[in-house]
Amino acid sequence: MFTGRDEVGQRSETVRRANLSAIVRELHLRGPLSRSELVARTGLTRSAIRALIGELVAGELVAEEPAIRLGTPGRPSPVVRLEATNAVVLALEIAIDSLAVAIVGAGGVILERRRVDRPRGHSTLDDIVADLAELARDARSRRPAAERPFRVAVAVAGIVSRASGIVRFAPNLGWVDVPLGARLGEALGLDIPIDVANESDLGALAEFRRGAARGADDVLYTHGEVGVGGGIIVDGRPLDGVGGYGGEIGHMPVNPAGRACRCGSTGCWETEVGEGALLSRAGYPLDGGRAAVDAVLGEAAAGRPEALAAIEQTGTWLGIGLAGLVNILNPRRVVLGGLFARIFPFVDDIVARGLDRGALVASRELVSVVPSTLGVDAPLLGAAELAFEPLIVDPATWLVPRGAVASLASA
Ligand SMILES: [Zn+2]
Repeated sequence: MFTGRDEVGQRSETVRRANLSAIVRELHLRGPLSRSELVARTGLTRSAIRALIGELVAGELVAEEPAIRLGTPGRPSPVVRLEATNAVVLALEIAIDSLAVAIVGAGGVILERRRVDRPRGHSTLDDIVADLAELARDARSRRPAAERPFRVAVAVAGIVSRASGIVRFAPNLGWVDVPLGARLGEALGLDIPIDVANESDLGALAEFRRGAARGADDVLYTHGEVGVGGGIIVDGRPLDGVGGYGGEIGHMPVNPAGRACRCGSTGCWETEVGEGALLSRAGYPLDGGRAAVDAVLGEAAAGRPEALAAIEQTGTWLGIGLAGLVNILNPRRVVLGGLFARIFPFVDDIVARGLDRGALVASRELVSVVPSTLGVDAPLLGAAELAFEPLIVDPATWLVPRGAVASLASA
């Protein structure tokens, strides 16, 4: 049992940590802010802000710069920014056609980024892990040797058990119950924690924090490729489900008379809006891949009726599925990624009409549908955001002498 004084001490320590977190979160999401802006955004007093920033500066997590006077009255307020290169994470992605790496500093500063093509089709865990580790080594070799990531996260197109880092099912890769997190952790040899997460969940996180869904707290992100993924944010928090497998909107049954799906079911949404559906409607082989998709989009841009009809039919099914999802989730914003973002300029009216027809008026009038602004990198940047989360939630843990950070982070 605590004595009364200890309880007060405990409570003020909790408050201190929460206040540090509030400041770091604002700086991470909004970039450099003046002390006055931090006062306004956190609701903390000016003297509390001054003391907490003093701690963060001493811990080398933030720096303060003298303000430039802009002709406004009163004393200029110093500008506070995160020291991007003092807290960096490693983000990785296993996409259908590519592998990617980024080294990202606090505040979302991209310090290194590289994407390499990957042949489609099944790959062994050994091959993917070796290629990702090589990409990571290459990226790190272009940064100062002393710069050490404190956490790594990897985005993968599959159903992932986040707690164990196991990919339960990734049809593109041919993986069932594959221990990606453990194996990648060994291969990287960094001795830091690793998060494994679904690419669409991470795409949603990135668009929510830094992309097309900024400012909206209720978001549906959906990403079309061969498969169709979804990431859902409700009241600012990801909707994961019991096992973290929620948001698999590509496997909503929509057409019992439709095609067989890779998941074993029939007529899932992805069999009507995925890449294969578009290609077969346009007269291309289902597995034509990126080159065939580029060809269809090129033909549509040139006004070829077959290509336009194929895209429009896909847009009709996109509107049908989105209408159902809007009725269930009542989101403020729907963000379309991947193939959906590419076809959107051709089908925005068709999708809008689908929502007018299929969504309840009350929900319909609150939602806007927009293409992704982060594009192909949304899942990769979302991985970085996931890796930063522990730092944002409890920056006090980082306010220790430099050099001890790595051992703390891996504790
Ligand atoms: Zn399915």
